[in-house]
Amino acid sequence: SSASTPIRATLFPGDGIGPEIAESVKQVFREADVPIEWEEHYVGTEIDPRTQSFLTWESLESVRKNGVGLKGPMATPIGKGHRSLNLTLRKELNLYANVRPCYSLPGYKTRYDNVDLITIRENTEGEYSGLEHQVVRGVVESLKIITRQASLRVAEYAFHYAKSHGRDRVSAIHKANIMQKTDGLFLKCCREVAEKYPEIKYEEVVIDNCCMMLVKNPALFDVLVMPNLYGDIISDLCAGLIGGLGLTPSCNIGEGGIALAEAVHGSAPDIAGKNLANPTALLLSAVTMLRHLELHDKADRIQNAILGTISEGKFRTADLGGSSSTSDFTQAIIDHL
Ligand code: NAD
Repeated sequence: SSASTPIRATLFPGDGIGPEIAESVKQVFREADVPIEWEEHYVGTEIDPRTQSFLTWESLESVRKNGVGLKGPMATPIGKGHRSLNLTLRKELNLYANVRPCYSLPGYKTRYDNVDLITIRENTEGEYSGLEHQVVRGVVESLKIITRQASLRVAEYAFHYAKSHGRDRVSAIHKANIMQKTDGLFLKCCREVAEKYPEIKYEEVVIDNCCMMLVKNPALFDVLVMPNLYGDIISDLCAGLIGGLGLTPSCNIGEGGIALAEAVHGSAPDIAGKNLANPTALLLSAVTMLRHLELHDKADRIQNAILGTISEGKFRTADLGGSSSTSDFTQAIIDHL
């Protein structure tokens, strides 16, 4: 990946504040000479019968072909006869792992200033398999599906991530003392993969104890891997440790090495179009995309400029207690590059 041959990446600006914060990413990338050429795709205004969703087949093909993409928040269209946008992306691109780096932002004071951990959530099965039914009146049942294939795949990704990012420990989070079969199988798969990575320390932590440890001392953890529901909850808990969803990036990993980065927050209709949105989460998500592409120099340069701007404190958006517009904050980041 040299600077002379640009890498094509799909960009979904999304809805609400999406286009404003996507513009901020495009500007920062341009100023930092990132060798990326964006292929922009918008959510359609009618259902594409090939995807049964407002997301077009062409936009999904673009991600498949490019292998990397960045997604802004998408508002959920109301009405029947279509699949949710996020569900369509997850199913069609087989996005099996959701990766959330979580680190303290220097200068933005929260309860802890030493958070530096990664949550990796299995994203396709578990309690979110959508298999629920009523057995008889007053009794319902929900099936929690854990498969060897999906568990090995996410465990493999977690150890690969730890190794390639210079991390030295992976903790599998579970409740296998109660969910003996399902979480038991998940742990068995993690152990198998751990044996292939003797240089990475491996431990198993029960979910309830994990919550207590995270709240008391988040520095106890490094990389955490877990089934779907636990990952949903723990990753938000971790976002809270560093200042909330407006700052937290994420990246979805799919079949064949696809990486689709996205901010964790929604389309913020209350402030859309007002030049007020904080672009940090989408920018840091774009940084995770650069790291996936192993463009670490560019990733470091942009990440340091973002952190430097926030820590300096002269330009901050309203959600961080400042009064800067999206464009002034973006310009300040560019000045810090
Ligand atoms: P939201 O995250 O859009 O907004 C919650 C609050 O946080 C609002 O007050 C908003 O102004 C603020 N906020 C969010 N991001 C911000 C940012 N970058 N800068 C400053 N303030 C920010 O959540 P919501 O209101 O529950 O959802 C709105 C829409 O977004 C819904 O249609 C929902 O379905 C969709 N949504 C999409 C995604 C996604 O695409 N991944 C995720 C969550 C919600």
